[in-house]
Amino acid sequence: NAQFALKRAKQSGRLEIYQPGEVNIVRRRFSVETELRRAIEAEQLSLAFQPLIDLQSGRLTGFEALARWQHEHRGAISPAEFIPVAEESGLIVPLGRWAAGAAATALATWDRAAGRELPLSVSVNVSAIQIARDDVGGVIEQALSASGIDGSRLTIELTESAIINDPQRAGRVLAAIKDLRARIAMDDFGTGYSNLAYLQKLPIDILKIDRTFVAPMLRDRDSLAIVRAVLSLADALGMSTTAEGVESPELAQTLAALGCATGQGYHFAKPLGQDAAFAYWMAREASATASSASA
Ligand code: C2E
Ligand code: MG
Ligand code: MG
Ligand code: MG
Repeated sequence: NAQFALKRAKQSGRLEIYQPGEVNIVRRRFSVETELRRAIEAEQLSLAFQPLIDLQSGRLTGFEALARWQHEHRGAISPAEFIPVAEESGLIVPLGRWAAGAAATALATWDRAAGRELPLSVSVNVSAIQIARDDVGGVIEQALSASGIDGSRLTIELTESAIINDPQRAGRVLAAIKDLRARIAMDDFGTGYSNLAYLQKLPIDILKIDRTFVAPMLRDRDSLAIVRAVLSLADALGMSTTAEGVESPELAQTLAALGCATGQGYHFAKPLGQDAAFAYWMAREASATASSASA
């Protein structure tokens, strides 16, 4: 393979020496892009739903929708691999449109199964590239009208990079999302190049504290200090908070005591398939009802 790459480079008149590993990275990336395009067209992607838990009451308040790609030969391909490829190739635009529609449709499907409008929200990740290139407000509007769910039951998760590149455009997109009554969460908060002025200027409802601060906070004083600082910042600005990476009951308890509103993590549940997510909601509601009846 390395020889092949070397020969191609010579033919083009340049002498470039590729390390064998480099060639493999380039090739894998190429095939991931081609196959991801096919997977989107053939609707071979799915969504997994990870529970969001009210840390004070223990009630389930919603799910974060996370893209999953089950490849016919290679098995599960991680979003950590295909989301960056989707962003670089522009495929995140159709992928993001699909994800918004599928998440809203899942919520409508659970409502129908329960025979009522459930007190649940669904969170959808929107990439900085979508903000820059697509009409995200229109995409959300379309997802809501196709599924019939109210905008107040949808949360859009954005990272800091979605705002930094073009703050004016981001401001218009966020205003359009708020007009639809959806909420806005700042995802992975603390890991990007934050400009705190944007927190004040933009209509952000929720800060999601990245799991790199949450997971070690019981053994690492600096992480704990950062978590506390984000909680107090959110409180001062009138925003809600979600802690990612809640992996133990001790973490859930400590975060609840510190006043964090919502928790998400393996301690509660891993991301679940659409039917498993609905079963989880019913089981959790049944036990919440039973414990409040006995209390
Ligand atoms: P994210 O939005 O920060 O999502 C949370 C990630 O943390 C998920 O990884 C979830 O499975 C993982 N996680 C949740 N709880 C725990 C825990 O207790 N411990 C640990 N170690 N991990 C936990 P996942 O599903 O692999 O997704 C990775 C990232 O890919 C997401 O990070 C998000 O940035 C991106 N992504 C996923 N789906 C989409 C999508 O539809 N659109 C866009 N634009 N990005 C997506
Ligand atoms: Mg997210
Ligand atoms: Mg996150
Ligand atoms: Mg994260």
